Amino acid sequence: MPKIRVMVTGACGKMGREVVKAVSAQQDMQLVGAVDRTGCGDDIGRVCGLGELGIKVLPTVDEAIKSAKPDVMVDFTVAEAAAANVERAIANGVRWVVGTTGMPRATIDELVDRSKQAGLGGLLAPNFAIGAVLMMHMCRIAARYMPDCEIIELHHDKKLDAPSGTAKATAALVAASGGHSRPSADDEPAARGEAFDGVRVHSVRLQGLVAHQEVIFGGLGQVLAIRHDSLGRESFMPGVVLAVRKVMDLDGPVIGLDKLMGLDS
Ligand code: NAD
Repeated sequence: MPKIRVMVTGACGKMGREVVKAVSAQQDMQLVGAVDRTGCGDDIGRVCGLGELGIKVLPTVDEAIKSAKPDVMVDFTVAEAAAANVERAIANGVRWVVGTTGMPRATIDELVDRSKQAGLGGLLAPNFAIGAVLMMHMCRIAARYMPDCEIIELHHDKKLDAPSGTAKATAALVAASGGHSRPSADDEPAARGEAFDGVRVHSVRLQGLVAHQEVIFGGLGQVLAIRHDSLGRESFMPGVVLAVRKVMDLDGPVIGLDKLMGLDS
């Protein structure tokens, strides 16, 4: 069985370095390429503390695809870069796994369309932590019985987007199950958070945090809080590795790791 050839974009970033390490540790995968706008020319193994791997960081996806011939591109960059990277991956017949958050919905829809037309497997997931996917799934169930809810998401102070992709995805899932927050009045103070799909989201940004979310459901004389904590970036790697394997068998794009875990009903 040939190994899955994996290229990482954003390879020098915090998530990218974890992906490089995770992919390098899999028996059935081979890291073949690394792209980043920083660290170009450096050996990605050295960047990640793995020792020399013989793979230089390249500045563009096109260059890396040409030299590395990957089966799958894994992207953890920034929203604008991710959209362009997926577009190039699809144009070159490379499957894609994207964890980058903050892409506008219209951009995502366009990439999904292109991938569908190309018959090419791909996965975009706002959260690769298996526990977070289960948390969202449980929230969907809770909202059917206790629809009044609000979301508090807490992340490290370097996170660029707010609210998190996970919080927006949770709001959409919960709303689809009938969940909602108290409707906002015109003069509502900002401290009441912002509504997404009718569900209020409160974003906390502090050093010391990694990625956390609590969804609170209120009922008559009772409260249900469902919380997930990612305590380190390695928490996302089992999900990324699962996605890399699964996209090899997909002939179209999928949004959300839950679809690959049989949790979509
Ligand atoms: P980071 O800033 O540490 O890393 C981003 C990397 O992308 C940097 O090395 C940067 O140089 C590189 N980059 C930026 N623009 C580029 C371009 N045009 N071409 C090539 N490289 C480029 O950020 P991070 O903490 O690793 O997070 C990356 C993304 O992953 C964010 O959107 C974050 O929200 C998301 N994230 C998703 C999950 C998930 O489970 N889906 C988990 C954690 C983080």
